Amino acid sequence: MAIKSLVPPVRTLMGPGPSDVHPRVLSAMARPTIGHLDPVFVAMMDEMKELLQYAFRTKNQLTIPVSAPGSAGMETCFVNLVEPGDKVIVCQNGVFGGRMKENVERVGATPVLVEDNWGEAVDPNKLRGALKANPDAKAVAFVHAETSTGACSDARLLCEIAREYDCLTIVDAVTSLGGSPLEVDAWGIDAIYSGAQKCLSCTPGLSPVSFSERAVETIKSRKTKVQSWFMDLNLVMGYWGGASKRAYHHTAPINALYGLHEALVMLQEEGLKNSWARHRRNHEILRAGIEAMGLKFIVKEQDRLPQLNAVTVPEGVDEAVVRKRLLNEFNLEIGAGLGALAGKVWRIGLMGYASRPGNILLCLGALDAILTDMGAAIHSGHAVKAANEVMMAK
Ligand SMILES: *Cc1c(COP(=O)(O)O)cnc(C)c1O
Repeated sequence: MAIKSLVPPVRTLMGPGPSDVHPRVLSAMARPTIGHLDPVFVAMMDEMKELLQYAFRTKNQLTIPVSAPGSAGMETCFVNLVEPGDKVIVCQNGVFGGRMKENVERVGATPVLVEDNWGEAVDPNKLRGALKANPDAKAVAFVHAETSTGACSDARLLCEIAREYDCLTIVDAVTSLGGSPLEVDAWGIDAIYSGAQKCLSCTPGLSPVSFSERAVETIKSRKTKVQSWFMDLNLVMGYWGGASKRAYHHTAPINALYGLHEALVMLQEEGLKNSWARHRRNHEILRAGIEAMGLKFIVKEQDRLPQLNAVTVPEGVDEAVVRKRLLNEFNLEIGAGLGALAGKVWRIGLMGYASRPGNILLCLGALDAILTDMGAAIHSGHAVKAANEVMMAK
């Protein structure tokens, strides 16, 4: 039998990413493919840089989308800034800090771990202690928005501390970009990477990155060659950097970049600060419903990410059954807990285009219906009402 075209179902994506892609982004991606050195495309690349500078709040010249997912943006930062034998302080309070440590080791450098419990923000005092004990550290790496737990760390303060000890900073902003306040220049961030599929309402597969002048100097004055040819920014800069002459490095993912361009145009139309405020407000609406149902947030209030809500699974409920029913009966995807939190929490994402009131009511109504049907110990029938009250409050 011949294999037929794939027609995927229409889902509502309220997990840890990918999140709902805006229809404008999808339609931009269906436009005609042109050559990656076509003047029209080259002009778009210049606009892309400007749009990303806007989103990151930076004037950094080296601000580009890496042609691969967020993990490749992470790796780009580490392979370019860290050399064999260097020492890097890595703050770990969830899954992604663990990946940073792995990156440092694979470069042939030594990671020094600053560990905090999952669900907590990075403790600035612990970072200070590690920097005092390791005056030879070259860089500090941490995750701004830990998607595995829903905790937000104080990136401004952590960068300030790193700078006191003359360390470069490498920041994971995959889930924060576009969704939470983030100031690359004002906070003195040296290297930052993000992803297209979280709060930017775009498809997965692209990783916006930005590097300060200090970081670029560090890359240019490396003693050793970057071990990855594809990610070596000295080479990538020849493609993305030069305004007049662009040298072929790799074929840019043309249509994917149309999508990111459209997503960033939309961010500019909404206004970055309005987008941050929308994510915050929608979190408040969801929160009212979740708490009215009797579920709890695992992250303490001041450290909570608005775009990633880790909430407790009621006693005796098989969380995987609930997620399966949400998908089958409501076309709704939410995330499971990872690592130590597996089976104990759900991760409800309110990212980008997915962060809108209709989604919140769908999620609360569907959760209420399924948990009630399963006989779970929740306050049935209150969630949507509580959310409506916050939503309609003047
Ligand atoms: C999603 C995510 C990543 C990885 O991005 P991919 O696009 O899946 O490679 C890295 N860090 C954080 C905090 C994330 O949420």
